[in-house]
Amino acid sequence: MPELPEVETVRRALAPVLEQQFIAAAFVGRDDLRWPLPENLAARLLGRRFTSVDRRGKYVLMHLDQQDILLLHLGMSGSIRIYDTPPPLGKHDHIMLTIAASPTASATHYVVLNDPRRFGWVDVFPAAHQDSHKLLRHMGPEPLGNGFSAAHLQMVFKGRQGPVKNALLNQQLIAGIGNIYASEALFHAGISPRRKAATVRGQRAERLAAAVVKTLRAAIEDGGTSLRDHVQPGGEIGYFVQRLAVYGRAGQPCQTCTTPIKMIVQSGRSSFYCPRCQG
Ligand SMILES: [Zn+2]
Repeated sequence: MPELPEVETVRRALAPVLEQQFIAAAFVGRDDLRWPLPENLAARLLGRRFTSVDRRGKYVLMHLDQQDILLLHLGMSGSIRIYDTPPPLGKHDHIMLTIAASPTASATHYVVLNDPRRFGWVDVFPAAHQDSHKLLRHMGPEPLGNGFSAAHLQMVFKGRQGPVKNALLNQQLIAGIGNIYASEALFHAGISPRRKAATVRGQRAERLAAAVVKTLRAAIEDGGTSLRDHVQPGGEIGYFVQRLAVYGRAGQPCQTCTTPIKMIVQSGRSSFYCPRCQG
């Protein structure tokens, strides 16, 4: 499932293709993904101009003229593909936008949403409703924004008896972190995923806040590195999860102390950690 760094990579790939460009044609192949799509979605998008491409947590927010937002969530299996010639659409290609310098100019790009498991979602709404939108209104601060700090972590973890790993996945406490980067950040902070969230205070909260920022920045940089040729021959945006210290490495030696990395399941999701370095 794409997390903040991957969604940021998608945003960076889309921005130069969409900004100040028009939707010359819109194809919407179904009336629902995870939830029903907005009514008359294709007609509502036709002829519109993109002004800027933003991100909030794991959502891409594409700003349109007339102060609207086109929201994209990739869900479990969604991906965006960008082509410069019209692609043949497959069974799981649910939406395609034809992009041009004016509503009637010839196409410069084709942007396709592919989503085999259909947990993704698309919505259109007025920008003024962003803060009250059902998916966005309860979302915690951006970990790479000014509202995030050790003090914030300590405040939102206060009184939480559940494991810190689960608290990091809670989008209401902090936006954009998923299973991979939660494990990675906890490793770099030297904190066990099983530790009670409420006990992450003081120095520990400092270490965790710093590790969250460092882990996400490094992953975005890796995405940025692959962004140079991010649009693959198949149109896919190439983000590669690199440099993972613990995630997916059960049984392999810890980078720091060579103790085998352990995998446990918490709330139905796998966590990876070094039982010696993380306490
Ligand atoms: Zn270790």
